[in-house]
Amino acid sequence: MAHSHPELRAPNTLEADSLRIVTLGGLGEVGRNMTLFEINNEIFIVDCGLLFPKEHQPGIDLILPDFDYLHERYHKIKGIFLTHGHEDHIGAIPHLLSYLPIKDVPLIGSRLTISLVSEKLKERKLTAPIRIVKEGETLKLGEYQLEFVAVNHSIPDALAALITTKAGSILITGDFKMDQLPLDNRKTDLVRMEEMGKTGIDLLMVDSTNADVPGFTVPEKDIKPALEKYITESKRRVIVASFSSHVHRVQQVLDIAVKTNRKVAFVGRSMVRNMGLAEELEYLHVKDGLLVEYKDIDKFGDEVILICTGSQGEPLSALYRMANGDHPIVVGPGDTVILASSLIPGNENSVFSIINELTRLGAKVVHKGNALVHVSGHAAAGELLYFFNTLKPKNLLPIHGEWRHLRACGELGIESGISRKNIFTIENGIVLDMKAGKIEVAGAIHVGYIFIDGPTIGEITEDSLKDRRILGEEGFISVILVVDSADGKIVAGPDIHARGFTEDDSLFGDVKAEIETALARAVASGANAAPQLEKVLRKTLGAWAGEKQRRKPMIVPVVVEI
Ligand SMILES: [Zn+2]
Ligand SMILES: [Zn+2]
Repeated sequence: MAHSHPELRAPNTLEADSLRIVTLGGLGEVGRNMTLFEINNEIFIVDCGLLFPKEHQPGIDLILPDFDYLHERYHKIKGIFLTHGHEDHIGAIPHLLSYLPIKDVPLIGSRLTISLVSEKLKERKLTAPIRIVKEGETLKLGEYQLEFVAVNHSIPDALAALITTKAGSILITGDFKMDQLPLDNRKTDLVRMEEMGKTGIDLLMVDSTNADVPGFTVPEKDIKPALEKYITESKRRVIVASFSSHVHRVQQVLDIAVKTNRKVAFVGRSMVRNMGLAEELEYLHVKDGLLVEYKDIDKFGDEVILICTGSQGEPLSALYRMANGDHPIVVGPGDTVILASSLIPGNENSVFSIINELTRLGAKVVHKGNALVHVSGHAAAGELLYFFNTLKPKNLLPIHGEWRHLRACGELGIESGISRKNIFTIENGIVLDMKAGKIEVAGAIHVGYIFIDGPTIGEITEDSLKDRRILGEEGFISVILVVDSADGKIVAGPDIHARGFTEDDSLFGDVKAEIETALARAVASGANAAPQLEKVLRKTLGAWAGEKQRRKPMIVPVVVEI
């Protein structure tokens, strides 16, 4: 898909000591975050994530950043820094490593982040040099001087990075908020950031996801009373659905389980894997004897909590299958299901249908719409303002958001005193150059959508997605006609078959006569070759379906000449 600035041309060759910033994903969308920095023939990458498809992209499993820009430049890559372990930041790493013809690009990140990436690499038998870093640490990578700063988010061990080059300094936050009472007491390091502000930050690249949410995100700890209330009140079992990487949320449920004498089982592959890893690395603290295998759960009667995946209504998840009676765990009256999760835009329909199904089965369903069982992982407007005032960046590039988020973040920047001309609300592919701390739009490159559809990876065209939508929503009609190649006379047909259009084939009775008349007219005018007759078939059927049936099915005419 072309960028929306056709007036922008490809950027010129990069000058010496100029830093180029190219965003391959994450602008105008929540997902597939990936930013490239380039100076003096050295590229440094921050994040490489996945985007989950929307309802208007039927059949698509996942969407990747477009790596094409790296095609001719891969040899320049010095390293890839991963801010935290969420799929929208690390999920495309296996695809990038498979794409690159070189195998020595180091992956840099915190212990938890790198552990989660390593699991992915292991599954696909990929390897890469690893560099584990922590807050306060610095690292020199060719032209890039890096310093890592603690930030908190809905997964432990998230890091921001201060990137200093000959062209100036950039702070990229990754995803963050400013929980002042985090479970692990690891706060966003405002003290260090204020010092950075005093030295001068030329560009702040900031998480804008919640820029249009007023006020401050409440602490993670604030959801504990509601969780405890519903777990205590539950007559039978409790099922808690959450993101499989939300270690602190799971920790709170474990703590309540201990207090209320319930056993806990993890359900779902990613939940079992991630929590096993988190416990091993001591991010998750589990009391001896608390955890049981979910297969043994019946031995413990009703005094159990099942923690599972599927809070977004994902069709293969444990919760989805429970709601649809397709899981060994049978949900029934007296059970309480808690969706301790956000509602990612686009997933509403699937989530509401799960809530309905679970309610129908007799369960009590608690979710963020009726109780405080979820808080966001992203800084709201109040936190962002506070942050801008502390850091006083010269330029602002809102990242990680749809247009409404990016714009709202930019407006907050202006309110905090950053000049409008120093705020860059841009789309993927728009290239910024920084020299001596000054930033300019240098041009634009093409950034496409790379779709994963089953085993194939590629740039599926918008036309083929449109075909899928038509097939899904309007159905399909095929019409087959056999004609004599000598005189164009109909030998057999038209034979009309439909799928997903009508149950009643007699409906086609009246259009058959119309088709025969149209064909006779075409043949009489000399338009009797197969492609011309196919056109007549498509046009006549299409007009009939539109006018008489108010439908726009996909029409596939086939004319066979004998
Ligand atoms: Zn995140
Ligand atoms: Zn994110």
